[in-house]
Amino acid sequence: MILLWQIDTEVAPSWLSLMQTAADCALLTEGVKRECAVSIRLCDDDAIHEINREYRDVDRATDVLSFPTVNYPAGVTAGQADKYLRRELDDELNACMLGDLILSVPHVLAQAEEYGHSPERECAYLLVHGLCHLMGYDHIEEDDKRRMRAMEEKILAAIGQTRDGEGAVTDETLLALAREAMKRSYSPYSNYPVGAALLCADGRIFQGCNIENASFGLTNCAERTAMFKAISEGATEFTAIAIASRQSAPWPCGACRQVLNEFAPGIRVLVTWDGGQDEMSLNELLPHGFGPKDVQ
Ligand SMILES: [Zn+2]
Repeated sequence: MILLWQIDTEVAPSWLSLMQTAADCALLTEGVKRECAVSIRLCDDDAIHEINREYRDVDRATDVLSFPTVNYPAGVTAGQADKYLRRELDDELNACMLGDLILSVPHVLAQAEEYGHSPERECAYLLVHGLCHLMGYDHIEEDDKRRMRAMEEKILAAIGQTRDGEGAVTDETLLALAREAMKRSYSPYSNYPVGAALLCADGRIFQGCNIENASFGLTNCAERTAMFKAISEGATEFTAIAIASRQSAPWPCGACRQVLNEFAPGIRVLVTWDGGQDEMSLNELLPHGFGPKDVQ
């Protein structure tokens, strides 16, 4: 999913990274085949209060507001509404605009504290709640509320963010998130887009894509993009990495095998491409690898 950010109130980069992964997972879980976009504003309580008053006639601040653009028929959600989504196609983005979300950063922090979980987790929950609204869910009637709640839980559980902090990320989700990350690839020279999704031992997922450069040698692979994002946000233990491309099996290049070996010599490496899927351990991909153990 394409997220168009407006950030008025400073937040940790890890919030944004988790929100991107949660948004990708929301579309996958709902079964939306088409690329979609959402604008997200992160602001303070005064700003959200004003929007709530102006557009909803509610004179108070709140945690999240959602303004859908798609006109779903009653009882229909985005997964079954392709023809309604298509009407919101933005030519420039080449994606369907689902609408706008506004999140209050002070509410995220206060609610995280109240529920005893991380602000990232609270942020992801509020984002998923808002995205469900943009995908046609609501919680006015008891039945609808149950349906919406179940979808929220399904999305959050898929990325290991359930309410009780448990929930395993499946290989299927990791591979799908790698394919989503591939859409953000910058590969105008090779036309070989690659995406990666790296699963950390603490359950976090970091996505990455390959980033090319007119000075070809400066290109960075998807796997290393994901690794460097994870490491720069404090994760150093990894259990699996999924890598996606289109044309052929995207086994990691020599440089990426070496970088993976630095932190996770035994990591499972899953690859997916048009027409195939495979798995190997890094030990198999980099036998007799040179690593930290050799320089002690
Ligand atoms: Zn590489």
